[in-house]
Amino acid sequence: MPGWIVRAAQRVIDRYDGDASTIWSDNPSADALQKRLDDFVGIAQKKAAMAVEILERDLGVPVRNLERSDIAYDIHIRRVFLRARLADRDDRDVMIAAARRLHHERPGALDLPTWLIGRGWCHPGVPDCATCPLSHVCPKEVERAAHVIST
Ligand code: SF4
Repeated sequence: MPGWIVRAAQRVIDRYDGDASTIWSDNPSADALQKRLDDFVGIAQKKAAMAVEILERDLGVPVRNLERSDIAYDIHIRRVFLRARLADRDDRDVMIAAARRLHHERPGALDLPTWLIGRGWCHPGVPDCATCPLSHVCPKEVERAAHVIST
């Protein structure tokens, strides 16, 4: 982790003139911003996609083409997508494509609510389906996510 921070700081100096806000200050498209973040060592698809959402949604950073945003391939999201049969299999590209089909105006908007359901109701062991907001539409195929465990 300290090595990643040092390399990130060096990248900000080299590529962004020492000002991290220039990573997103030119009104980038969602996919371009995700790529810029993904290019940092230690940041992969999951963190880059989440960061795009946090920057636009929570911090008010202008981001264009939100139809090119994506969900993060995160453990909670994987569990919910599999159990609710939103995705056919546990594969990053399959889940990203499923989110794009489900909410083509802004696929990344599915990230936070899905994460909250995974964290709050769709637990790794026994999910709390009775009180889950998706209970009335979810097929509750709990065993499909049996392999999705924290490492
Ligand atoms: S209804 Fe149950 S299986 Fe479906 S998403 Fe909610 S907690 Fe998970």
